Amino acid sequence: MTLWKLSSGTASVIGKRRIKSQALPQTGYILLGENCLNNCLFCAQSRSSGARSDLLSRMTWPSFAADEAAAGISLACSQGMLKRVCLQVVNSEDSREVTLDALRKLTADSPKPVCVSKHIETVGQAEEIFAAGAERICIAIDAATPTICRLVKGEDWERRVLLLKDCARAFPGLVTTHLIVGLGETEEEAVNFIADCLGLGIIVGLFAFTPVPGTVLADGKPPSAARYRRVQIAHYLLRKGWCRSAIRFAGGRIASFEVPDLAGLLRDGKAFETTGCPDCNRPFYNERPGGIMYNYPRPLTGKEVEQAVRESGLGGEPYDLACS
Ligand code: SF4
Repeated sequence: MTLWKLSSGTASVIGKRRIKSQALPQTGYILLGENCLNNCLFCAQSRSSGARSDLLSRMTWPSFAADEAAAGISLACSQGMLKRVCLQVVNSEDSREVTLDALRKLTADSPKPVCVSKHIETVGQAEEIFAAGAERICIAIDAATPTICRLVKGEDWERRVLLLKDCARAFPGLVTTHLIVGLGETEEEAVNFIADCLGLGIIVGLFAFTPVPGTVLADGKPPSAARYRRVQIAHYLLRKGWCRSAIRFAGGRIASFEVPDLAGLLRDGKAFETTGCPDCNRPFYNERPGGIMYNYPRPLTGKEVEQAVRESGLGGEPYDLACS
């Protein structure tokens, strides 16, 4: 019997688990395969990880019969409880077949927006995934620089970014990547990576580095709220069409945002909500209950917006962001 792992939030949405959560996912998250060939030092699924195999980042992923899970997700999509499906595929020997089979199962009854996040080597492999029914693909670069990528993922950053850009040109507007903030990059490096991606129509999902017990980086430190908020604000401004030159740096750190009425621009809190594919809100993927809410999986309250702006450290008052 084929088994799929669902994030516990997804399992809850389709009625397979009861969890207490302040926010449920709008996307159905499915983790496929095990025994990853890759060795990303932050990842519970990696070759070197001694973490529980039902973990990815902070989330647990209980297993269910694939047909049952696909039926539950299809029903939740038809009822509007899920708006997207995300396949996170471990890079194993059979990941191609596993992915194509999952796409068949998910789209058999009705088309739905499915994003596939898996290791690919060529544009042709991306083409095959689209032909099998995916709406988007994600090529997770994760690291902002070649050095970090080599150290943390053991991969050739330039080669991966070239593939990402080739796919973005071949499938305009249909490609996503992930960037993990807190792997040792400067804020300037993070912003440059984001700006380059956005310039090619690539959506960037921002993540906060999350130390997971059992992984090589278990003792690493997650990013400070200040650093993450500044990168979020920069990401938001770039998405809104502001130029990279509107973001000023000092020693690699964001020092100020040269835009008029920044306070007004941030007031709706969108800058601090989860980013990535449309409708991807990833509740508590990086966040500990009671800890820093790096990515809000829902609209923020006015108080939360004030707090997030304050956390950016770019001004004493909630809406005074002129850098001192
Ligand atoms: S941004 Fe969200 S939906 Fe898209 S690949 Fe990443 S986790 Fe999945």
